[in-house]
Amino acid sequence: MHSRDYEIAIVGAGPAGLTAALYAGRALKKTVLLEAGIPGGELLNTETIEDYPGFASITGPDLASKMTEHALSFGAEMVAARVTGIALEPDGRKRIEVEDGEPFFAGAVILTAGGQPRKLGIPGELDFAGRGVSYCAVCDGAFFKGEHLAVVGGGDAAMEEAAFLTRYASKVTLIHRRSEFRAQPVLVERARNNPKIEFLLDTVVEEITGDGQQVRSLRLRHPADGSADELEVGGVFIFIGFLPNSGLLQVHADHDSQGYYITDENMQTSVPGVFAAGDVRAQLTRQVTTAVGDATTAAMAATKLVEEPLAVPAPA
Ligand code: NAP
Repeated sequence: MHSRDYEIAIVGAGPAGLTAALYAGRALKKTVLLEAGIPGGELLNTETIEDYPGFASITGPDLASKMTEHALSFGAEMVAARVTGIALEPDGRKRIEVEDGEPFFAGAVILTAGGQPRKLGIPGELDFAGRGVSYCAVCDGAFFKGEHLAVVGGGDAAMEEAAFLTRYASKVTLIHRRSEFRAQPVLVERARNNPKIEFLLDTVVEEITGDGQQVRSLRLRHPADGSADELEVGGVFIFIGFLPNSGLLQVHADHDSQGYYITDENMQTSVPGVFAAGDVRAQLTRQVTTAVGDATTAAMAATKLVEEPLAVPAPA
């Protein structure tokens, strides 16, 4: 076997990728886990995790480092590489192209590359990125001590991150384009009970403005009556969802309207031998628990497939 030939290749070392590496390594498959950055994925952007069984409260980075150590203890290799494309070889093996270096080859690939925060796409958003526009409260919140901040979004992330930001900000205005929330009621309730959070509903952010150095205000529109106004803030944190990293496969795999891979019960995509788990996969909710569960299934199915191809039904 060539040194870059593997039985199983895993793309992305968040909770799903780390779990897949644990199970594939434990099954004694020659496994490579490809990750361009620090392992941990979205855990690294999460302050405290309170819904991972066995840990009443643990920081995201702490859970990431425990998962990484555990995952690699069974023999999977982690290689620092940015994957740029995945193609099929004529014999069905998968060729995994990376930015600097020779491609990797594997009998089965597990896609666990997560995604990126969705952007608002409004004027000022890119200009002020890193100068008052942020997508990560844990990373940037501490830079805004005593400031009035805005959070945009109405999902779980917006509620949780608004609450997190109140430890630094004098006040957090949560701006949501509707009056109903996608977030779990318990998180909405917690944010509503936080005296530092105020809600601005049925409101759309149209522009982010500043003095050239730093965000100073948001231009807002209220669609109900068509009125517009400004809100002075020191920064704006945007939590309006997530875009899956599902553009790596160079052959078509079925996906939903937002680009999340659709899999069967073995986590196999419509491409035989290509599995997906974690935030890149279409599912009801994107939790650490679902990521690790689905990655377990993916790793077991990938193991069976490389050992005994007929044991895993071809995708429908
Ligand atoms: P999400 O649930 O998709 O919510 C995105 C929010 O942003 C929605 O309220 C949406 O508004 C709004 N939005 C989308 N595009 C917008 C735009 N262009 N302009 C203004 N608002 C926009 O995303 P999320 O909160 O990032 O959560 C993603 C997943 O991670 C979910 O499955 C969630 O359960 C999970 N998560 C869980 C936790 C937890 O359990 N503790 C924490 C964080 C995330 P509309 O409602 O009007 O569409």
